Amino acid sequence: MTSHDFDEKLLFERKAHFCGFRFCPQCGSPFMEKEIDGRVRLQCTNESCNYIYYHNPIPAAGAMVVRDNNILLVKRSVQPKMDWWCLPAGFMEWNEHPAQTAIRELREETGLDIHLDGLFEVYSGEDDPRTNAVLILYRASVAGGTLRPGDDAREAVFFAFDAIPDKIAFVSHRQALADYRSRFSL
Ligand SMILES: [Zn+2]
Repeated sequence: MTSHDFDEKLLFERKAHFCGFRFCPQCGSPFMEKEIDGRVRLQCTNESCNYIYYHNPIPAAGAMVVRDNNILLVKRSVQPKMDWWCLPAGFMEWNEHPAQTAIRELREETGLDIHLDGLFEVYSGEDDPRTNAVLILYRASVAGGTLRPGDDAREAVFFAFDAIPDKIAFVSHRQALADYRSRFSL
């Protein structure tokens, strides 16, 4: 999908309907909606299969990299929220620990190697039109590398907490910035 044909409303509607999934990934038969364990879920209509689709959020990880009391943000070069700012973060790959995800994403998006200084907080994100997410954020410091935007970031900038841009892409990122500021009195 290109930014030109990105339709946020359509994606939100699709997300609300099991992300548009209609066929069983195990046998290819159509799904039906069925109440299972107190929630409407998708179940395969092929009785010899009976696959159930559990609509789970996707875990993502990132880092709050602070240098001289300034926080590192990236400007998104892709949809959703293209040209809005956010914390450098991304979806976890299969077999990856969230700490590895955070380190990898920081290198890809900002060119920096980071040292993780511990878990900061975990957030539930429901305002991404593609999927619901669980955002795992670490505190981090710069360990090396050269600051240059890459991957799906077009800018990577350290901001004073008083000068954080208004356009922060996701509620969980806005909350994390506010929480960080209040927790460390910045
Ligand atoms: Zn099936």
